[in-house]
Amino acid sequence: MIVGNCLILKDYSSEPFLGAVEIEGGIIKRVIQGRVEAELDLSGKIIVPALFNTHTHAPMTLLRGIAEDLSFEDWLFSRVLSIENRLTEKMVYYGTLLAQMEMARHGIAGFVDMYFHEEWVARAVRDFGMRALLTRGLVDDQGDDGGRLDENLKLYHKWNELDGRILVGFGPHSPYLCSKEYLRKIFDVAEFLDAPITIHLYETSKENYSLTELLKLGMEKVKTIAAHCVHLPKESFDKLKDLPFFVSHNPTSNLKLGNGIAPIWEMIEHDVKVTLGTDGSASNNSLNLFFEMRLASLLQKMKDPRRMNVDTCLRMGTIEGAKAMGFKSGRLEEKWNADLTVIDLKLPEMFPSKYLKNHLVHAFSGNVFATMVAGRWVYYDGKYPTIDVKEVERELKKIEKELYS
Ligand SMILES: [Zn+2]
Repeated sequence: MIVGNCLILKDYSSEPFLGAVEIEGGIIKRVIQGRVEAELDLSGKIIVPALFNTHTHAPMTLLRGIAEDLSFEDWLFSRVLSIENRLTEKMVYYGTLLAQMEMARHGIAGFVDMYFHEEWVARAVRDFGMRALLTRGLVDDQGDDGGRLDENLKLYHKWNELDGRILVGFGPHSPYLCSKEYLRKIFDVAEFLDAPITIHLYETSKENYSLTELLKLGMEKVKTIAAHCVHLPKESFDKLKDLPFFVSHNPTSNLKLGNGIAPIWEMIEHDVKVTLGTDGSASNNSLNLFFEMRLASLLQKMKDPRRMNVDTCLRMGTIEGAKAMGFKSGRLEEKWNADLTVIDLKLPEMFPSKYLKNHLVHAFSGNVFATMVAGRWVYYDGKYPTIDVKEVERELKKIEKELYS
């Protein structure tokens, strides 16, 4: 399949040119420069690499807007957890379909997830067609984790590397909800399986533990996607750059829950790998990574407008996120995954066309024309070809009644 006859942005560091992309078996066969006879003519549009959301809790779309104007502790412990306790497997499945609908509409091809009933998140990812790195959220109480690590292992053995789209890692929630012994065990398992972990790290100013100790417990040996890192100790930056350690920067969630601004410019200057995440819908409240990209840029420019050029922002949102997850995506090039998104250049905010890359970061709403994952359209011109939208809407209506009336 050849799609294009439109502008192509190969990656964050290049400039758009007129061309097309040939796709075969979910992989990019070649990128063609110049005018060609495309099977799918997308003139008037631009094809760019799809985005990768490195931190979310997908089923929390069901909890959007339920807990506003609260402290982090009240938000989590008195509001969110009481509703989460009532979520069934079926609810998690449809909540994850809804999350993917929203993400696909914003040009996202893959996401990192940490939640419970994760088996049903996996089923929803299988059915919708996105990429994902899935983890079961792990917490323990004096060594007893209620079988969570076993569940995570079961998930790993059943779903890891399915279709080349689903990967499974391990999800220690945070150093404040996991004992040291438990963390050591999780890091050991992850190292043995060569699987990544994702963890909430230094999200609030109250978190008080030693990063050096965490690394020694085994974290330094496993690929880590660390969400938030608002209060990550600055003296650790030089050490982290040499580790398989990726920060997932979640600017909206950090602001909305009053946790502050992560010093990502200093991290980037120290070559720490920084990616972008939305966090769950109860703390954001949307899954729009274009918005996060813009906010990430503006928050750093507050101190110095020369920080965070658009290439840096686009890299965080595309190839760096894909790399953190373990996918060869985020660049439109031969032998790379056919994960791309199409944006309509007739949108008023895309003028003048000479400065398109700047518009992508600082003007674009995030409402794309289409998103392709592994060579398949998961969103195209207002439609979701892989799912029965009417059925999803019916089920969501029932879920809303069960949860909120
Ligand atoms: Zn989170």
